[in-house]
Amino acid sequence: MSFEAIKGQDQPINFLRESIKQQQLAGAYLFIGPEGVGKAFTAKALAKAVNCQEESFDSCDKCSSCIKIEKNQHPDIHFINPGSMDNQGDSELIKIEEIRQLHREINLRPFEAKKKVFIINNAHQLTAESANALLKILEEPPKNSLIILISSKFNRLFKTIISRCRIVKFSPLPRKELEATLRSEYHLLSEQAHFLAYLAEGRLGSALALKDTNIFTEKNELIDEFISVGSNVDQLAAKDREGLRRYLNLLAVWLRDLYLVKSGLSHAEIINLDRKEQLLKLMSHYSYSELDEAMKFVSQALMYLEQNVNAKLIFANLKGILKG
Ligand SMILES: [Zn+2]
Repeated sequence: MSFEAIKGQDQPINFLRESIKQQQLAGAYLFIGPEGVGKAFTAKALAKAVNCQEESFDSCDKCSSCIKIEKNQHPDIHFINPGSMDNQGDSELIKIEEIRQLHREINLRPFEAKKKVFIINNAHQLTAESANALLKILEEPPKNSLIILISSKFNRLFKTIISRCRIVKFSPLPRKELEATLRSEYHLLSEQAHFLAYLAEGRLGSALALKDTNIFTEKNELIDEFISVGSNVDQLAAKDREGLRRYLNLLAVWLRDLYLVKSGLSHAEIINLDRKEQLLKLMSHYSYSELDEAMKFVSQALMYLEQNVNAKLIFANLKGILKG
């Protein structure tokens, strides 16, 4: 994927392209922003752009360098992911061995690239020892190298690491823009694009991951069931935590829509736009206080779920929820 193909991140991408053009690239960058907004794609595009044989300040995706990087087969482009050197079960951490290897690699001349690139994913998972070792490298990275740290958790990064990187911020897309992208680039039906754009909170990567699940069918089955029998506690008990969380979130969205329609707010704000007719029909079945209560139950159940509270308590809570 080239810079040109990455959607909704014009600001960070223009900044990086301009830095390449002006030959003002820093030795180390920190890409910070929520999950699923394109940080990893941009890191790879940057690795391609600085090494592209076409000098277009982007990747051409045709030269041998671009093609090798795209396939993760370039000998000078390294990806460091938490757990990739794991043999003791600490699968979430970036260990000292990884950084020692980086240190050895970075001081060797590139095999064929103009710049060696090291992309460190989830940089908040560096151990203190790894962070210290990395710090020494960040102080003076070799001229023909580029280090890109990626993280969605700014508060968990070591301050010393942050201070040695040029920070590049990534933001979620405005919902309308994400919706339009899902329609035009990924050919989603407009009601599905609308629903996913809301659910993914402006994160294209999350929307695309959701698109390949049966979430749209699932949410409509849930709504049908809720309308006919209320929340089906027996069926809920069969779900795992993730399934339960998804169920509760979808239910929260449905209740929110009912509330919104009942309040007479703009229909453009309905998330389940494909169920608009039913929402309009059902809104008078519930009082505001019933809807309030139901939303409270759902958010409490979600909170219990986060706190690993016994599932039985969650179900007991949901039993009280209203019927259609
Ligand atoms: Zn190229």
